[in-house]
Amino acid sequence: YEAKRDRTGVEVYEATRDGNTPDRLGLLADLRRALDAGEVELHYQPKVRFDGVVSGLEALVRWVHPERGRVPPDEFIAIAETSGLMPRLTEYVLETALAQVARWRKGGLTVPVAVNVSPRDVHAPGFAGAVAGRLARHGVPAGALQLEITEHVLLEDPQRAADTLAALAGHGVKMSLDDFGTGYSSLVHLRRLPVSELKIDRSFVARLAVDAEDAEIVRCTVDLAHSLGLLVVAEGVEDDETWERLRDLGCDAVQGWLVAAAMPPDETTAWLRARDGVPDSPEHSRPRPE
Ligand code: C2E
Ligand code: MG
Ligand code: MG
Ligand code: MG
Repeated sequence: YEAKRDRTGVEVYEATRDGNTPDRLGLLADLRRALDAGEVELHYQPKVRFDGVVSGLEALVRWVHPERGRVPPDEFIAIAETSGLMPRLTEYVLETALAQVARWRKGGLTVPVAVNVSPRDVHAPGFAGAVAGRLARHGVPAGALQLEITEHVLLEDPQRAADTLAALAGHGVKMSLDDFGTGYSSLVHLRRLPVSELKIDRSFVARLAVDAEDAEIVRCTVDLAHSLGLLVVAEGVEDDETWERLRDLGCDAVQGWLVAAAMPPDETTAWLRARDGVPDSPEHSRPRPE
């Protein structure tokens, strides 16, 4: 860091250009160690269709720091992104998720798993080939993996990102556009990205039942997605009323605490088994705050 003196002569530490502070650097070092030690875990949150079919699981990282306790993903992912650790984190998440998918498949559970990837990953040279290699090593068919990307992948080098995503799609990997509606949503992006699913951001879903504008945004998004042949998943569904509204608007699947929060692997297995053949309705599940 650069140490500077302010006008009162007190030494102040300015964040370096990448926004690192001593606290962030400490966390970064700890995260690197935690990844090497296998202390970072994946939990899985179901995506469920209105007819009750579990259409997939989303892998979400969980890190319990030995002293700080649970660190929210948003926090350490931002650090990983600006530090160069992101490829390592993604490699870890992909490996862990694919090993789990392989175990589930051996046990007769063939549900696809979605992994969140950052723009950094998509821009890394050889990313598509590396993903294909990992699938092959784990003996997992490409259709059992989904990658959740955001429109931010198109900010840096749109052509390169589009090429990488096209290569992944060519391998048979499905792509989902996460957090849709926040930031840079545009029709151009939708046309340019080989995605098969669109996830409506929680910020629109949360107040869907009480805010007419949010309801209209969700309606338009569902219609737009369907007219482009995409499936629509709503994230952050917490109550029955929202679930019903989404069903009536023609949304394809939901994710949220109403159905289930992200669960550790064993709990996910039990959840999948218990639910096998049980039609979905809000009465069958209770909110489970994380
Ligand atoms: P996301 O991919 O949009 O994931 C959805 C977030 O909403 C998750 O937060 C999930 O736990 C939370 N959530 C699910 N249902 C509900 C609900 O009903 N109500 C509310 N209030 N929240 C709900 P989480 O796990 O804290 O992750 C936050 C973000 O961190 C994710 O947003 C994703 O962008 C990122 N992330 C998580 N895991 C990974 C990962 O393995 N790799 C990368 N690159 N990013 C990840
Ligand atoms: Mg996601
Ligand atoms: Mg999201
Ligand atoms: Mg999000």
